[in-house]
Amino acid sequence: MSFNKLVGQQELRHSLTSMLLNDRLSHATLFTGPSGIGKKSWGLALVQAILCPFRSKAGACMKCDSCRQFLSGNHPDYFFLQPDGRNIKIEQIRVLRKSFYLLGGRKVCLIDRAEMMTAEACSSLLKILEEPPAGLYFILLAEQPRLLFDTILSRCQRYKLQLLSCEQVQNLLIKEKGMAVAKADFLAKISGGVAGSAFDLADDEEFEKRFKEARNLASRIVSGRESAYSLLSTAASLADKEDLVPFLELLCLFYRDCLVNNLCQDDKLLINPGQLMDQQGLIPASRMEEIILLINAAIYELTKTNANRRLSLEKMLILMQRRLMPCPG
Ligand SMILES: [Zn+2]
Repeated sequence: MSFNKLVGQQELRHSLTSMLLNDRLSHATLFTGPSGIGKKSWGLALVQAILCPFRSKAGACMKCDSCRQFLSGNHPDYFFLQPDGRNIKIEQIRVLRKSFYLLGGRKVCLIDRAEMMTAEACSSLLKILEEPPAGLYFILLAEQPRLLFDTILSRCQRYKLQLLSCEQVQNLLIKEKGMAVAKADFLAKISGGVAGSAFDLADDEEFEKRFKEARNLASRIVSGRESAYSLLSTAASLADKEDLVPFLELLCLFYRDCLVNNLCQDDKLLINPGQLMDQQGLIPASRMEEIILLINAAIYELTKTNANRRLSLEKMLILMQRRLMPCPG
């Protein structure tokens, strides 16, 4: 892929172009940022540009033998590492080392989720980076760079990828997916500038159904009049959901919009929850904040602890309802 096909990241684009054209590219480049932000797309575009003998400002030429080999997935000088199970192990780096020192010419290794390298793998990689053979380049991708050893970080040229604007994500969805403008606008907003998340939502066949269910539940809770029996049976059915966490994240967005509407009533609404906002007009912002905290606490329990799903959801729903109960009189 050429750099021209990639959207945004002007500083990164400018810096990479300049270093490639002036032959000043570091032997180790690190791209960081959340999942879906474009680290791999930029990493692959850089790999291809390094290997292409006819690279230009736009990156790889896309036409030469090297580019064709790369695009077909068979370039002999391109190596890819990712966690084998939970970690990237020292054996994986050792295999790589053998290949690197065989023949001359340019060689590039892309390491996805580099922060998952074991200490031994890091030490082994560091040995290569301390005296890298000419023409050898590493491109590391990491969501959590603080987990990488300082000794590795200090040898990398680092780039933190930036969020795209909603408009950029919207245009990508329209262009790449042929999506209608309104839907693209909606997905771009709720993905918060992370193009990969917007594309995942676009491909998610359950999304519309999940959205309607979340709106329905948000509306029921906000009425403050759900019976305890109804809440407990809702918790039981939610606990069986495979997409429970994305569901709770959507639920949170409805209340987030209500809060934003309460506080500033501007155009920062993501999903325009309509009926819900009519119902919650009198609920103070502080209560809406508590509701959001309760959902986030449940998401934390469900993803980071071994909490019982059903009990976590029961607690969340009952406390939400309690915060929203109409004041007597
Ligand atoms: Zn080329």
